[in-house]
Amino acid sequence: MSTIALLLITGWRLYLCSVNNAEPARKAADLRSRDIERGLRRAEQLCAARGARLTPVRRRVLELILAADQPVGAYTVLAELQSERGKLGPPTVYRALDFLLAHKLIHKIESASAFVACHDIEHPHESQFMICDDCGAAEEIHDEAIVQSLRRLGEDRGFAVARQVIEVRGLCPACRTAHH
Ligand SMILES: [Zn+2]
Ligand SMILES: [Zn+2]
Repeated sequence: MSTIALLLITGWRLYLCSVNNAEPARKAADLRSRDIERGLRRAEQLCAARGARLTPVRRRVLELILAADQPVGAYTVLAELQSERGKLGPPTVYRALDFLLAHKLIHKIESASAFVACHDIEHPHESQFMICDDCGAAEEIHDEAIVQSLRRLGEDRGFAVARQVIEVRGLCPACRTAHH
């Protein structure tokens, strides 16, 4: 009994070691491309349910934003599309971005004039962002208390709050570690 258990444990440990060392970069890339695929599929379903058309250009723009580590500027998207599809003007990209924003598939980081993909598209929400001054990474946060508090402050003043832009700037955990 104990011999078998020991063998299993040893085998398990060896297996774990080999998994951990097996091309972690490729694994991360696989995971990532699965995330992107899933994001695109959800967006397609949502658009279909709303009777909106996720055209190839809109889909590709969303894919580029989903694939990016950081918020993406319109001109980065434009340059990429031009390299793939040849001549294509800024209005095409802006129209695609407007569509994605209107359907809340992406959010705009106002202080960086850049766009990030939303990972909770099924649930319409106001969000807040924490943006790293060093690497540019933007983390989306949903804090209903902040949303309600601002709405109430608006109401107290007879101000109709239509849109909230809350962007907090600082250093992300990775950059803080790197700075020490
Ligand atoms: Zn969101
Ligand atoms: Zn950072």
